[in-house]
Parts: sequence; structure tokens; C-alpha cells
Amino acid sequence: MKYRLLAPGPTPVPDRVLLSMSKHIIHHRTAAFEKIFAECKDGLKWLLSSTSAPLTLASSGTGAFEAAVQNFFSKGDTVLCIGGGKFGENWLKMSRCFGLNAVDIPVTWGHAVEINAVKNALLKHPDCKGVIIVASETSTGVRHPYEKIGELLKDRPQCLFVVDGITAMGVWDIAPDREHIDILVSGSQKGMMLPPGLAFIWASEKAWEQQSHANLPRFYFDLAKERKAQDKNQTAYTPAVSLIMGLHEALCMMKEEGKENIFKRHDRLARATRAAMTALGLKLFAQSPSESITSVYTPEGLPDDSIYKSLMKMGNFTIAGGQDALKGKIFRIGHMGYVDDIDIIGVLGSLEIILKKLGYEKFRLGASLEASAAILQEGFASKN
Ligand SMILES: *Cc1c(COP(=O)(O)O)cnc(C)c1O
Repeated sequence: MKYRLLAPGPTPVPDRVLLSMSKHIIHHRTAAFEKIFAECKDGLKWLLSSTSAPLTLASSGTGAFEAAVQNFFSKGDTVLCIGGGKFGENWLKMSRCFGLNAVDIPVTWGHAVEINAVKNALLKHPDCKGVIIVASETSTGVRHPYEKIGELLKDRPQCLFVVDGITAMGVWDIAPDREHIDILVSGSQKGMMLPPGLAFIWASEKAWEQQSHANLPRFYFDLAKERKAQDKNQTAYTPAVSLIMGLHEALCMMKEEGKENIFKRHDRLARATRAAMTALGLKLFAQSPSESITSVYTPEGLPDDSIYKSLMKMGNFTIAGGQDALKGKIFRIGHMGYVDDIDIIGVLGSLEIILKKLGYEKFRLGASLEASAAILQEGFASKN
């Protein structure tokens, strides 16, 4: 059976990208590598609508986050960490692990943060050195209103705005310059159509200024050293050469599709999936849903993981269940990166058959396809 990866990461990798990564490894201290790396930097600038490129690191996304904490903060610095999901909580734990005074701004899972909660925390901690948020909380499927927090922080020279954009980059128009983000972190295996293994970290001039006197220990992720190398289209240590080749190809594909079309596609697939779930009588989990994933309550009475397992058995689909407290309570369909309308139609049609088989009867066969088609047709209209 075809492998159908609709997880909230990793996500499918296009054949073109796979082939580009299957070539011989070129030596990285060569002009040939520098040319490819320079073009990757240009592509990433284009994607983020920025005049500066993010640094590309050989690690999972969490590595870039660790680099952010190590490079831009000092022991004892107060940072506000916005919760509301597994990743938000991870950054709180990580900040504490590195000796920061991390203040939790708790958010009910499934909800987006209230701007007033952030305003109040800023009043209580006027000298805080950073605010950390996850733009798209992959564990709950929520999109937080991070842009509004950027507005709140833009005139505070001592406070850095750190955004986990791991399931936002390549999905919507996240633009750190325009949105007053100081540090944007991302990874390869979500919206970027790549395998796991690369991380990206973009930093503002304000952040680099802080970096020069931040005092936490760092070595592999010494970003000043990395920046110096990457300014010359090199990397401080051996880069993940094959993944850089893949990145080059993925960015070519993105340019061919066009940014606006990429963002429209994600928005369309997300709206179609949500409309489909509602048409099946299922309840959406996220109050303010992200364009990258749809999280849905598992219907009452269905055993944990039954939908997940049946989709796997029926069509070799991989979706995801809930994590931590949400285990068995929700399922999550990923629709980011190399995912198209037909993938969504396939998973919805399969889901209908499975739900009927599992004894869930609150819908008429075809209901989700009808609801999604009303939205998916926008994509075809724009092609003619
Ligand atoms: C996947 C993900 C991460 C973790 O990335 P790794 O590559 O597994 O280290 C962090 N934050 C968000 C929002 C994610 O979706």
C-alpha cells in the first residue's frame, strides 16, 4: 500500500527532494557547496520576507530552541513562557533547565492565549528579558495570536520575543521583520517538505545585540561562531550536506508554486478539513485552529487509538493521537508541507468508512466529502 503520511510531523517528502538527497555527498569546504548554501539562504529569506537569512543548523527543531535559550539569555533572566500545550511546556522546562527564571503563563489546552494575560504578566515582570510562545501549538492544533504580542513588545529594547514557528514556517506568511519577532525557530520536517534533521533560527539585530553579552555556556550551538561562518556560506561544523541539497530543491519547488499559493493551499486544506469534521458531527478541539493541523475529539465510546489504527490498516495512513493529557481524547490530522487536496479527500473518505465500521452513525456517507468539496473547489477555480 502507498505510504500516506498525514502526521503533524514528520510530513511527506516530494520525490524531487528525495532524489536531490540521493546524490553523492560533495565536500562542504568547496565552492560548489557554498553556491548551494548561498541559494538556500536566499530562498529562506524569500520565504520569511526578510532581509536576513536564518541560520541553518544540523539538529532537530528543539536544537534551535536550545540554541535560542543558550545564546540570547543569561542565568537568572526572567522570561515569560506561554503554555497551552506540550511544546509551550517544553520551552518552560528548557528555560528552567538553563537557569532562567521562567514564569509560566498558563493557558487551557485547546485555547489560545489571552492578550490580557500577557499584558498582566508584563506589568508584574517589567524587567523581563523575553517572552516565549509557540505560534502553532502542534499538540493541540491551536494558532496563538503571536502577532499581537509582537506589537506589545516591539518598543521594549530589553525584551526579546521568541517564537516557535516549527509548524508555521512554510504554512502561513510568518514574517519576523514585519511581526516584530526577535528569534524565530523552525525545523525541517513539518512545513518545509524535508526529512527531520535541520533546524532554522532567525534573529533580529536587537537579539544579536543581547547575544554579545549573554553568559550561558554554549559550544556546538555558539551562534556567533555559526553566523560568522554562514555569512561566508559555510557552516561552523560539518553540515548535514544531503539535507542541505534537499532544502535547496524544496525551496525551488516552493518558488515554483509561489508563496501566496502555498499559504492559500494550507488555508484551504485546513478549512476543508474542519468543515468536513463538523459535517461528520465531530467536535473540533482547537478554539483558534492552526492551518497546519486539525485536532478533533474522538467520538464518545470509541476505543483509544481505534481511528488511528483503522486508518493505518485501511489505507496505510499515519495520523496522530493526542499527547500527554490528551492521549485517547483527540486525533490530529496534519495537512502541512507536501500535502494536497487529493490527500485530504482520501483521508476524509477513508475516515467516513472507518467511522461507520466502528459504529459511529451520526452522519450520512459522503457528508464530509460534500462539505470539503465546497471549499476545495476554490483551488481548482484558481487554476483555470
Ligand atoms: C515538532 C515540533 C517541535 C519539536 O521539534 P523536533 O524537531 O522534534 O525537535 C517543537 N515545537 C513545535 C511546535 C513542533 O511542532
